[in-house]
Amino acid sequence: MSERRVALVTGASRGIGRGIAEALGAAGWAVVVNYHSSPTAAEECAAAIDAAGGASLLVQADIANLADHDRLLALTLERFGRVDLLVNNAGVAPTVRTDLLQATPESFDRVMGINLRGPYFLTQRVAQAMVAGLDPSQPAPQIINIGSVSAYAASTFRGEYCLSKAALGMMTALFADRLAEHGIRVYEIRPGVIESDMTGPVKAKYDQLIADGLSPIRRWGTPGDIAAAVLAIADGAFPFSTGLILDVDGGFHVRRL
Ligand code: NAP
Repeated sequence: MSERRVALVTGASRGIGRGIAEALGAAGWAVVVNYHSSPTAAEECAAAIDAAGGASLLVQADIANLADHDRLLALTLERFGRVDLLVNNAGVAPTVRTDLLQATPESFDRVMGINLRGPYFLTQRVAQAMVAGLDPSQPAPQIINIGSVSAYAASTFRGEYCLSKAALGMMTALFADRLAEHGIRVYEIRPGVIESDMTGPVKAKYDQLIADGLSPIRRWGTPGDIAAAVLAIADGAFPFSTGLILDVDGGFHVRRL
């Protein structure tokens, strides 16, 4: 059994997930670095965690493939013996941004599979293990879902992405309600526009929107901004909150006139 607290971060090879995994590692956590198709980047993340004084375990798994979930959890428990924090971060945008009137069922199924169906069943599986492993001498485990402002902001060129994030909001509420009796708290972080490979293709567009005042705080967000919120939750900063949504978005969610 690991003396360290153990976090499982999905999609930790790049972007926001990598920022979260490295920050947890620097705070002394043992981190399971899940990745899908970027092994070199995932190895860099694991090396950074080890160098910063944390401990890492690399696990390749496709979050959309439910058959991979048992292996991901089994390897985690085999190495560390516990899971204190699940961060459902892995997510994708549509491969091609397509107008709502032309969008395809194939893209719908891909985005929903990775952003919603996979996390829903991974959370179910990990929550079972968390409940089975509850130890009254330890802080209760926690779960964090990485949602998006797209849960409520309509983008008609990526409708399936918006739908996946809107449903993730209900997933947060459902698991918060179900797991509260076990002391397990569930949170959602809603990033705004964050610098990563995901937003790379639309960088020029967002540069202009941000300069024009898209959000009250006129800068891009960084993976470090999201990691700071994860660390606060991980450290138990919100003991009487569950189902809480943290808007880490430069104030994007504020209605303005
Ligand atoms: P990113 O830079 O494109 O990174 C995506 C990560 O997810 C990669 O590590 C990738 O791993 C992993 N991933 C993709 N498909 C996977 C699968 N099937 N199984 C396991 N891992 C998978 O994206 P990001 O910007 O960091 O986004 C991370 C999360 O934040 C997503 O849920 C996204 O919706 C959300 N978000 C992002 C923004 C933004 O502005 N960037 C805003 C709001 C919300 P591999 O490279 O190994 O395949």
